[in-house]
Amino acid sequence: MGELGFLGLDKPEEYGGQGGDYYTSLVLAEEMANSHSGGLAMGVAVQTDMTIPPILAFGTEEQKQQWAAPAIRGEKILCLGITEPDAGSDVAAIKTRAVRDGDEYVINGSKTFITNGHRAHGIVLVTKTDPEAGYDGFTLFLVPMDLPGVIREKKLEKLGMHASDTALLAFQDVRVPASAVLGQIGKGFYHIMCELQGERLIGAAASVAGAQQVFDRTLGYAKERTAFGRPIGSFQVTRHKFAEMATKIETARQLVYTTAWRFENGEYPVREITMAKLHAARIAVEVADECIQIHGGNGYMKEYGIERTWRDLRLNRIGAGTDEIMLDVIGRSYGL
Ligand SMILES: Cc1cc2nc3c(=O)[nH]c(=O)nc-3n(C[C@H](O)[C@H](O)[C@H](O)COP(=O)(O)OP(=O)(O)OC[C@H]3O[C@@H](n4cnc5c(N)ncnc54)[C@H](O)[C@@H]3O)c2cc1C
Repeated sequence: MGELGFLGLDKPEEYGGQGGDYYTSLVLAEEMANSHSGGLAMGVAVQTDMTIPPILAFGTEEQKQQWAAPAIRGEKILCLGITEPDAGSDVAAIKTRAVRDGDEYVINGSKTFITNGHRAHGIVLVTKTDPEAGYDGFTLFLVPMDLPGVIREKKLEKLGMHASDTALLAFQDVRVPASAVLGQIGKGFYHIMCELQGERLIGAAASVAGAQQVFDRTLGYAKERTAFGRPIGSFQVTRHKFAEMATKIETARQLVYTTAWRFENGEYPVREITMAKLHAARIAVEVADECIQIHGGNGYMKEYGIERTWRDLRLNRIGAGTDEIMLDVIGRSYGL
């Protein structure tokens, strides 16, 4: 994908990208659904929409050359380390510490559920540099994964997304130079919240695309499969199921596109990004579930791949912030 330019569609040409606008990234997310492999799509999205963007946004020129450019070329794989065994939704509760020691920082802690964690060459790591400073005590680091003390503990087993590796990582006295700080010292929380907006919007686009994919496959099935002497799609109840699903998909798509347009034009519409992520993830799971039903027993069989899509899409209501956290962000945006 790097050789074909797919990892840098919306990235600046000076770092090997194609220089496209934000929509090109949406096109990639949508087309990846055609692989029928949510795990592959997620691994790629971590690279293109979760790790390269913060390096380009907050990194030094040297960091961009060292990490972003080879990541765009597909020569280096990146991962993002926010979640810890005791802190997921509550990002502010992370415990991974980075302590200054002369010209270096010493990092200790652990991260879990890290996509690409077993294959990655480098990690965008969220740490606390000043635990007393609240939201101003976080700092991001760019840490090579082959440093002494970086331990890839366990390859975690999952419900779906099997093509993507998910790691439990430990950091034991990992020494990095001060030049490994990504962005401003003490501003890591704000940097990562900014990163999360792009992650959620692309996740929303992927949910819509996944829903459309499984809808299309099921539509074909409903036209061919017969029961009681007629195609199952010709039963009014089935026809209405497709009408309901199509309406859900279209509302989610319109919300994603409108929000993406605002994002591309320099706005920072956190509320609508959050709504798009929530809505798209929910309807995608509803659609995939209904498609299993329309397939009957075949929907439950691996051969048809519908159950796989359901398992893959199910993550979208959890990853990048759960439904409940999305609802809270939206509710709080009204001053509640
Ligand atoms: C396959 C997979 C890949 C992932 N990839 C990455 C990755 O690459 N990098 C990374 O850093 N993380 C990654 N994650 C982690 C993911 O972002 C977290 O799982 C997610 O944010 C939820 O955190 P948690 O699992 O700790 O759940 P918890 O925070 O423990 O939440 C458990 C439940 O409590 C609810 N809850 C928590 N707080 C509240 C609240 N305030 N109000 C109401 N309800 C609440 C949640 O909604 C949820 O239902 C991945 C997760 C998975 C499953």
